[in-house]
Amino acid sequence: MAKYQVNKDKCLGCGVCTVNCPGGVELDTDGKAKVIDADKVEQCGGTDVCPHGVIEKKEEGEEKK
Ligand code: SF4
Repeated sequence: MAKYQVNKDKCLGCGVCTVNCPGGVELDTDGKAKVIDADKVEQCGGTDVCPHGVIEKKEEGEEKK
């Protein structure tokens, strides 16, 4: 299963992703987006949920700690 994460360094906090994918992404307390449900993000169109290319896809097992 794919995982998605927000690159917080690049996130503008514009909130477009939360409109494109309610329930999949929400704005965090720092004003930047965070993925709350990767399956939902996948259904919403994956990395296309963010028009600025800030949401990144990672395949399982590829995750950096
Ligand atoms: S649409 Fe992209 S830049 Fe805007 S808040 Fe979401 S992740 Fe950040």
